[in-house]
Amino acid sequence: MILMRQFQRPITDTNMQKESEFSDKAFAPASGDMSAADFRRVGHQIIDWIADYSENVENLPVLSQVEPNWLKNNLPKHAPENGEDFAEILKDVDKLILPAITNWNHPNFHGLFSTSTSAAGIFGELLAAAFDQKAMLWRTSPASTELEEVVTDWLRQMMNLDAGYTGIIYDTASVSTLHALAAAREGLDLKIRETGMSGRSELPLLRVYTSEQSHSSVEKAVLLLGLGQKSLVKIAVNERFEMDANKLREAIETDKAAGFVPFCVVATVGTTSTASIDPISEIVPICEENALWLHVDAAYAGSAAIVPEFQKFFAGCERADSVVTNPHKWLFTPFDLSILYCRHTDLLKRAFALVPEYLKTNETVTNQMDYGIQLGRRFRSLKLWFVIRYFGQNGLIERIREHCRLAKLLADWIEADENWELAAPLNFALVCFRACPKNVENLDAFNENLMNEINASGEAYLSHTKLDGKFAIRLSVGSIRVEERHIEKVWGLLNAKV
Ligand SMILES: *Cc1c(COP(=O)(O)O)cnc(C)c1O
Repeated sequence: MILMRQFQRPITDTNMQKESEFSDKAFAPASGDMSAADFRRVGHQIIDWIADYSENVENLPVLSQVEPNWLKNNLPKHAPENGEDFAEILKDVDKLILPAITNWNHPNFHGLFSTSTSAAGIFGELLAAAFDQKAMLWRTSPASTELEEVVTDWLRQMMNLDAGYTGIIYDTASVSTLHALAAAREGLDLKIRETGMSGRSELPLLRVYTSEQSHSSVEKAVLLLGLGQKSLVKIAVNERFEMDANKLREAIETDKAAGFVPFCVVATVGTTSTASIDPISEIVPICEENALWLHVDAAYAGSAAIVPEFQKFFAGCERADSVVTNPHKWLFTPFDLSILYCRHTDLLKRAFALVPEYLKTNETVTNQMDYGIQLGRRFRSLKLWFVIRYFGQNGLIERIREHCRLAKLLADWIEADENWELAAPLNFALVCFRACPKNVENLDAFNENLMNEINASGEAYLSHTKLDGKFAIRLSVGSIRVEERHIEKVWGLLNAKV
């Protein structure tokens, strides 16, 4: 295993004890917190460790090489009775935790959507943990409440969304989409908040529409809202994996004729399998004619809207009701941070506000607990504020542009080589492709095997999808550290086996 040996400065006892003040006494277990002096010393070591990790992550395997249960079998079954020396705890980070880490920050992490954190983002998390805010009411965290409003508005402008959108931070896109659908349903005035959906024979079947290629989070939101899978209609896609707007129109007409109540369409800019882009501009008039809420899932691709030449892919979003984007995906912000941009925060509030006596205040302010299911909320905006200030709009734009350039480069190599073919049109920084050597009969098995071998080697991580029933390899370019040589490396690994 290629683990810690590449690290110049792992956290080991020798390292720790270089600081002569590191006596056991300094770490004597106590019922109070660590002293400021000890915190400073350990903190410096941890920052050093993270710096080394970040510098050397490329030398670690991308996918963790441990077997299932390895970590569990190596940890005590019971909590320690007495407190431990912190140096001991950190030794176990090296010995036990690091080998079980899949390195999302590795520049050759190309699976799923390649996402990575940045130093600015790490500092944001660190400070947020130190402040330990629970932003439920404005008064329980003016900073978190107001910084969230400011920073989501900055990103709104960067994405070229109009001022009718208000940003609210949730943990993940799955939760953002759940809230969008809840607000859309609240807008129906069917008294679902008061009387629910069960036991009501007068309530017609409600319908939500999305494409066959949309993310599973749409279906999960439908499940959680008690609408049932029966309420979700999956519209067919064209050969570019984009929702067929004519089929959407037909489905809505058929449902209305049957007495059902269509209320929401979820379209995607940047689907998970191929990053395909639903025709938002064609979907918008259908939603407007039928008074349907249009929610745009741009969890992955939303970050690309900050790049002027990519804004065309988001045309139509100016007439949607809500848009979700995940800075934790492609904006170098550590997980988690998803933003729901919504035009109807009044409906979100109507769906979720519930104020017990002990939370009543008389300030005329935004209390963020009113806009979702959570009471306490993390101070997430701090890390995004750091990221945007550190890189500036131009730094972020350049990085995303470079990712798209690298994806195009790989797609060009694939298209120029008869042993390879693209499995979907190139969108943003996601390449879907497969090997197609003439002498191979079972191409699905061949490609699957190829991907598995590369993943098992720890050299790179690729993932897959099925397109038109065929196995396709997905390569996502998204790491803050990725360079052309990393794409060359994967191309070499792929070709070594074909
Ligand atoms: C990743 C992704 C999601 C889900 O993201 P989470 O933040 O992990 O819930 C939803 N939709 C699309 C298009 C995605 O790519």
